[in-house]
This record gives sequence, C-alpha cells and structure tokens, in this order.
Amino acid sequence: HAKLLGRNKIVTFHPSMEQRINRKERLKSELKQALKNNQLSVVYQPQYSMKTNRFEGAEALLRWSHPVEDSITPMEFIPLAEETDTIIALGEYVIREACKQLDRWRTMIQSQFYITVNLSARQIAYEQLIPFIDGVLSDTAFDYSQLELEVTESLLMVDMERAVKVLKRLKDKGIRISLDDFGTGYSSLSYLKKLPLDKLKIDKSFVNDIPGDHDSETIARTIISMASELGLEVVAEGVETKEQVDFFCRQGCFLFQGYYFSEPCDSAELNRRFFSVIKKTQPRG
Ligand code: C2E
Ligand code: MG
Ligand code: MG
Ligand code: MG
Repeated sequence: HAKLLGRNKIVTFHPSMEQRINRKERLKSELKQALKNNQLSVVYQPQYSMKTNRFEGAEALLRWSHPVEDSITPMEFIPLAEETDTIIALGEYVIREACKQLDRWRTMIQSQFYITVNLSARQIAYEQLIPFIDGVLSDTAFDYSQLELEVTESLLMVDMERAVKVLKRLKDKGIRISLDDFGTGYSSLSYLKKLPLDKLKIDKSFVNDIPGDHDSETIARTIISMASELGLEVVAEGVETKEQVDFFCRQGCFLFQGYYFSEPCDSAELNRRFFSVIKKTQPRG
C-alpha cells in the first residue's frame, strides 16, 4: 500500500513541488542569517557617458555567496527577501556599503561620481527608512546628490501616495531618484508628473532587440524624447554591443550601463580596471 501510494501520489507528483517549497523556505531562512554570516557583498556596475567619455557613476548590486550552492542570483534571492522583512536589513546593508564606498571614491575619482542603490517596496513602506538614511549620510562627506535611489513602476503601484511622499522627502535632501526598468511595468504616464524623478532607465528588454526590432526602437526613441521634454536624464541599461551604443547616441541618449562598458565588479576590481587612471577633477559648478 505504502509503495503504491508513494508511487502515485508522493514519489511522482508531490516531491518536486515539495522540494521547490522546501528550497524556497530553506533559502529564505538562510538568507535571514546571510548578513550575520558575512555571505553578502556589494558589486558595482559603472555607468559610462559617451558625452564626457568617462564613468559618471555606478549601480550597487547585492551578491550572496552561499556556502553550498554555486551562485544564487539576485533574481532568485531578492524576491525571497522581499516576501519578508529580510529585505529591510539587506537593503540597509547595501545603502551603508554603497555610502562607505562612495566616501572612499570621493578622494580618488571625480568629485561628482555617484552611486545608485535599488529600493524595494517594503523599504518605502518602512517608517525608519529616512532616519536610517539620515544616519548613514551624517557619517559621510560626499554631496547628497551623489546618492541616487532606484525605484520601479511595480514598487510605486503598491502605495503610490506613500511612495510620492517618501521620495519627495528624499529628494528634498538632495538625493536623486531614478525610475528603473522603465517601460516594463504599468507605464501609466501620469506618475511621471507626480514623482520627483531625475532619471529614467530604459529597460534592457528593449535594448536587447536594438538595432533591428522596429517596436523596440520606437519605444526607445519615444522614451528618450519624452525624458528630454520632461527634463529627465536617461540611461540605456544592458547595452552589450557597439551597434546599440551608436543607436542610442543617435537618438540623444549618451549614458550607458551594460556589459559593453563593464560588468558589475567589486570595488577593488573597479579601482584597478578603471579608476586608477582617472585624475581627480574640480567640482563642477
Ligand atoms: P536592476 O536593478 O535592473 O539591475 C540591472 C541588472 O542587469 C543587474 O543584474 C546587472 O548585472 C544586469 N546587467 C547589466 N548590464 C547587463 C548586460 O549588458 N547584459 C545582461 N545580460 N545583464 C546586464 P543583477 O545584479 O543580477 O540584479 C538583478 C536585479 O536584482 C536588479 O535589476 C534589481 O532589480 C535586483 N537587485 C540587485 N541588487 C539589489 C539590491 O541591493 N536591492 C534590491 N531591492 N534589488 C536588487
Ligand atoms: Mg536597478
Ligand atoms: Mg534595471
Ligand atoms: Mg530589475
């Protein structure tokens, strides 16, 4: 009986689902301990300007080196962290690390170099977000405009009113706000007016098919001209080829983030590969 039951119900069907749930639950609880166990780190992917011909800033991206499993991508572990309050602690870790790094780079790279950090919906909802950021910034000497926070359309949809309020308060301090993965979400244009935005990031799903795909080219062109009308900066994400770079430059978008210029790398690697040759310049303006 047990064998029969096992074969029909447990062995052939339930286990895979059970295993998936188990893995998910196991990763969720391991992730909760990951910070304490020193398994987390932050890598930086620079943004390159074809106008100034230099790296102008970098996006901070979280990495988890799991002791047993090879590599668990942010695409897998960030959503797990977002299901619980774990994302609060992880998000605070990234902000703290990024600000420390920015402070170190302040004396090495051009003075307006910025770091951009991704925010999750729960962080926006968390009432201690702004006091936390204030605390971190009080220990640093860079200009607040050198810190940029990235939000997504789907994050905004969770509680638009709250998001607008929080982002305005951050913006009032001088922190810059960018809209990540633009074009993939709800794309209701009304919030572009409501939000205190500085920058739009064109999602790499459009960039992938450029040049060649007529619809993606049209969407990219439209985003770029709309950004320009609204006085927003625009950056093309996930750029991997020279043809993509040429296309975007022709359309008036000169800022890029993608493997063509650099993959995300740790700060030491970035210093070695790029920044040692960049002379410190005077602050602009
Ligand atoms: P994102 O914020 O849109 O970050 C850009 C992602 O695109 C990064 O993936 C980056 O490595 C990848 N990318 C950049 N250029 C290229 C390219 O030329 N080709 C390809 N194929 N990929 C490229 P990553 O680091 O795996 O992060 C994935 C997502 O996880 C991020 O997307 C972001 O939504 C989330 N994430 C990562 N770190 C954090 C964090 O600290 N906090 C939060 N809330 N989310 C994070
Ligand atoms: Mg991002
Ligand atoms: Mg993005
Ligand atoms: Mg994304």
